[in-house]
Amino acid sequence: MLAYLRDEEGPEYGKPDFVLLDQLTMEDFMKNLQLRFEKGRIYTYIGEVLVSVNPYQELPLYGPEAIAKYQGRELYERPPHLYAVANGAYKAMKRRSRDTCIVISGESGAGKTEASKHIMQYIAAVTNPSQRAEVERVKDVLLKSTCVLEAFGNARTNRNHNSSRFGKYMDINFDFKGDPVGGHIHSYLLEKSRVLKQLVGERNFHAFYQLLRGSEDEELQGLHLERNPALYNFTRQGAGLSMGVHNALDNDEKSHRAVTEAMRIIGFSPEEVESIHHILAAILHLGNIEFVETEKDGLQKGGLAVTDETLVGYVAELTATPKDLVLRTLLARTVASGGREVIEKGHTVAEASYARDACAKAVYQRLFEWVVNRINGIMEPRGRDPRRDGKDTVIGVLDIYGFEVLPVNSFEQFCINYCNEKLQQLFIRLILKQEQEEYEREGIAWQSIEYFNNATIVELVERPHRGILAVLDEACSTAGPITDRIFLQTLDTHHRHHPHYSSRQLCPTDKTMEFGRDFRIKHYAGDVTYSVEGFIDKNRDSLFQDFKRLLYNSADPTLRAMWPDGQQDITEVTKRPLTAGTLFKNSMVALVENLASKEPFYVRCIKPNEDKVAGRLDEDHCRHQVAYLGLLENVRVRRAGFASRQPYPRFLLRYKMTCEYTWPNHLLGSDRAAVSALLEQHGLQGDVAFGHSKLFIRSPRTLVTLEQSRARLI
Ligand code: ADP
Ligand code: MG
Repeated sequence: MLAYLRDEEGPEYGKPDFVLLDQLTMEDFMKNLQLRFEKGRIYTYIGEVLVSVNPYQELPLYGPEAIAKYQGRELYERPPHLYAVANGAYKAMKRRSRDTCIVISGESGAGKTEASKHIMQYIAAVTNPSQRAEVERVKDVLLKSTCVLEAFGNARTNRNHNSSRFGKYMDINFDFKGDPVGGHIHSYLLEKSRVLKQLVGERNFHAFYQLLRGSEDEELQGLHLERNPALYNFTRQGAGLSMGVHNALDNDEKSHRAVTEAMRIIGFSPEEVESIHHILAAILHLGNIEFVETEKDGLQKGGLAVTDETLVGYVAELTATPKDLVLRTLLARTVASGGREVIEKGHTVAEASYARDACAKAVYQRLFEWVVNRINGIMEPRGRDPRRDGKDTVIGVLDIYGFEVLPVNSFEQFCINYCNEKLQQLFIRLILKQEQEEYEREGIAWQSIEYFNNATIVELVERPHRGILAVLDEACSTAGPITDRIFLQTLDTHHRHHPHYSSRQLCPTDKTMEFGRDFRIKHYAGDVTYSVEGFIDKNRDSLFQDFKRLLYNSADPTLRAMWPDGQQDITEVTKRPLTAGTLFKNSMVALVENLASKEPFYVRCIKPNEDKVAGRLDEDHCRHQVAYLGLLENVRVRRAGFASRQPYPRFLLRYKMTCEYTWPNHLLGSDRAAVSALLEQHGLQGDVAFGHSKLFIRSPRTLVTLEQSRARLI
């Protein structure tokens, strides 16, 4: 144990734990990070927190041999690794029946999703030694679901070629033997605006290109599709770009086969897979539908028409709905006009285009959510009876978008960054809480350390009535025309004195913001300027009831199941649905509560450079991440506290040979007294505190000294 503390690999590999640094400045931190990175040591600890730098190249760090090296070991026994963290979470869960969670954070492209896959692989590899069939099935679903979710939820972006465009929290349930018996995935805030539009250099979700490039000719014919993505408005932008993923599934064609196969193995029926392909195709056709105003013809009023009715026919066929109804739904909406009366109101070109886009986004989102729920149904722990089988324990893995600053930041970035504020707050709470609780339990005096508390920023966003989300909701529920600009003015009134809020109105000289368009939040991770354009619309996230009814009445049972709210008649739709912002806030509050109830393990991912190249660590780029991940404070807390704590018997077992009073056995009445004698002989008693059952060692140096004297004897 603690082998790594002996500088096993020599000083040229840097310190394997930042707590061991002689001095703690940003410079020292960065030097160590750089040094280790250059030597291929991408993992470093801060106590039990793992810092990971994306190597952007295959390193020989993974696989069965590496897994065997970590299996069943203590965290410090081997060089820092994801497997050690996975093993730590697994052992805590198994030995102490504690629910645990592994929180992975970092910016886009920092390696979060890859880390979560390595963790899952570790857990799959070390469980079910007796090869029980049901457990094997669950493991298979857990591993294979990733590739399905990535097809529908990932896209090529400028920052990451396989970027997750949704947040993911996955629970794995274990029985009393420690074998996985089920799981559950929560997904958060899919970036559905991507269905319509992508930045230059980016693509739509992988699933569309996979369908076009990977389907057989006759399948494509059945979907009325051509192979070329450039023919469809929704995929044109990314048509010339490959998937760009560096793994076995690096092209759309292969991925299509792998994903379809994975769905089959997991347990999707052939009809379900077919429905999924129909829905994707329908979205592509929908995107090509355009509207024109028709001429006034004699007494006939001018109206609206689609330019190409065959497309409407395709959409109708693929969604198993009547064509005339599809057409009507595209051109007009029904509105309740008091009581049971309904009237039809024709769209303008702009309204119809807007409604078409809203429909395409909503259909894709419902498809994604259906896929997640379907996987959940398949992974649900089967036939388990708590009285007979005992309570399940859980390991949760959180892989969620990191703090995001784009050239223009909108509602999505606002939500993502709010999410990161919440998680940061939790990190602070848990790290301090955990330490403090243990010190209290063990009767150790300790002094709390100053930490930047971001509670006021969280409040600024989520406080009832005046918080940004509440003000936004109020703007959305206002009858009559309401603009993003008015929303911004209301924010200005409420928060003019808030230390973390500003806008051009409030700082007229600050030319980096625009009047009537921007507001700025001083996040814990840095300042972000948000443009309010589209906030109201994205928050309202509404879709005409006619579309919902249309799809609910589809003859395709899979599609129909995605639209339970289409049952309602327009005259019955009275309750305003919750806004996107409020739904997101509620899901974040629930997530944080859930995580807080578990024993946390943290993986903090760092992206070494913006160009996705191997072996280059850009210092400025990383320094910023180190700063906002709060890593220096993390080390400080660790150092102010104790680097190590060990139950007395365990400590003695390892070091008793280094002291004449304790070797081979001590006669000192208690293990605690024996440990005290041992430390006194080494002159180390000043660096420790004696808890009720454990010894607390302040500095890692003390451990090194002990390890060295032990090493001299063996
Ligand atoms: P994030 O989920 O944080 O946005 P990803 O996990 O998708 O980032 O990683 C982005 C890319 O970086 C991956 O597609 C892969 O090419 C590379 N990468 C990440 N982690 C590793 C690793 N441990 N080893 C090799 N390459 C990695
Ligand atoms: Mg990801």
